Amino acid sequence: VSIPWNRLLAERTAWIRPSLLVDFERLPSSADLILFSGGAPPLECLPVERIAGALAEAWHAEPEALWYGESQGHEPLRVLIAERMRQRGAAVEPDEVIITNGSQQGIDLIARLLLEPGDRVIVEAPTYFGALQVFEPFDARISTVPVDEHGMVIEALERELASAPRPKLIYTVPTFQNPTGVTLDPERRAALVALAERYGVPIVEDDPYGELWFDRPPPPPLRALHPDVLYLGTFSKTLAPGLRIGWLVAPRRLMKLLVDAKEGADIQADRLLQRALARVLEGAWFERHLEAARANYRERCALLLRCLERELAGLATWTAPGGGFFVWGTLPDGVDTDALLVECARQGVAYIPGSAFYPDRAPRPSFRLGFTTLSPAELEEGIARLGRAIRAAVQPSLA
Ligand code: PMP
Repeated sequence: VSIPWNRLLAERTAWIRPSLLVDFERLPSSADLILFSGGAPPLECLPVERIAGALAEAWHAEPEALWYGESQGHEPLRVLIAERMRQRGAAVEPDEVIITNGSQQGIDLIARLLLEPGDRVIVEAPTYFGALQVFEPFDARISTVPVDEHGMVIEALERELASAPRPKLIYTVPTFQNPTGVTLDPERRAALVALAERYGVPIVEDDPYGELWFDRPPPPPLRALHPDVLYLGTFSKTLAPGLRIGWLVAPRRLMKLLVDAKEGADIQADRLLQRALARVLEGAWFERHLEAARANYRERCALLLRCLERELAGLATWTAPGGGFFVWGTLPDGVDTDALLVECARQGVAYIPGSAFYPDRAPRPSFRLGFTTLSPAELEEGIARLGRAIRAAVQPSLA
C-alpha cells in the first residue's frame, strides 16, 4: 500500500507556490546567460573575514551560544539594532525587537498572529513575491494598490481600506521597493500612517534596503511616525543573505505572542551568529562597510541606467531608484514579458518578468532588473542583449 498523498495534502498546499513561475533552468540558454534576476549582495563583496573573525571570537568567548535560550533574541544584538533604528528616527527599545530568521520569517510570524482564512491583506502592485508566498497559504484574499514613482497611490489605498470587509493588514516595502526601486515620499508616508490609524489597520513595513541609499538617506521609516507599525529589518542585504538574521519591531502588546510563535516555529535564531553579529555591529566597521556597499551599488545602478538609455530609449521606460537593488522596466501595453523572456534567453540575458510580482501572476509588460551581482562588463553586455531582444519583439521591422 502506498500513502495517498493527493488525498492527504492540506487544501492550503494549492497556495504554496514557487516564488517565480519562470523556470530558469528550462530557458533556452547560451552558456554565458547574463542574469539580472539576482537580489543579493555580490559574492565578492561578502565580508567573509569580518564575519569569520566575529564568529571565532564568539565561539571562544561565549560557549553558551551552543545552548537553547532567548527566543526573542540575544539582548546585546537587540540593543544595537534598537540604537541603529533610533539613529534613523524611529524610537525603538530593545524589548520591542525580536530576532528572526531573516525578514521572511517576520512576515510569517505576523501572518500567524493576524490572519484568519479569508481575511483581506493589502499589498502594493507590484509587490515582493516572497510576501505573497506567506500570505496566500493562510488563505488570505489579496487586494492590491498601485505604485507610481512616489510609491503607493494613497487614493487607491483609501478605497481599499474603505471597502468591506475591513482589511487585516497593509504590507508595504516603502523604501527602494522590491521590485520597482521607488520610495514612498514623505507626504504619502504621513498620509499612509494617518489612514492606517483612522481605519485601525496595521501597517507591515518591510525594509531590507533602507540603509543602502546612493546619494542621500531616504525619509525615516514609517515606524518613526507611529509605534504600532510592524517593522521588518534584515542583515541579508547589508551583510549576507545566507546568515538568515533579521528582526521584527512590534508593539509590546504583541511581543509575548510573537516570542511564543517564534519558539513554536523554530525555537530561536542561531545563537552563535547573533553573538557574532553583535560584535560586527559594534564599533565603526559596519558603517564603513555600508559606505563601501552604497558606493558600489550607486556605480552599478548608474551604469545600468546609462546602458538602458543607450539601448532602450523610446522603447521602454524605467525607474531611477535612489537606493536598493532593483530597476523596474516597462514596455508598451500588450507586451508579454513572460513570453519575451524566452527570446531574451536566446540572446543570452534574463530578467524577472513582471508577472511574478502580482497576485494573479498574469503576464505584464514590465520586468525587474537586479544590478548588484553583475560586473560593469556584464551590465553593458547584458543590456545590449536585452536591447536586441526587445527591438526584435517590439519593433520587428527595425530588428
Ligand atoms: N522582503 C523583501 C522586500 C525582500 O526583498 C527580501 C529579500 N529578497 C526579503 C523580504 C527576505 O529577506 P530575508 O533574507 O531577510 O528573509
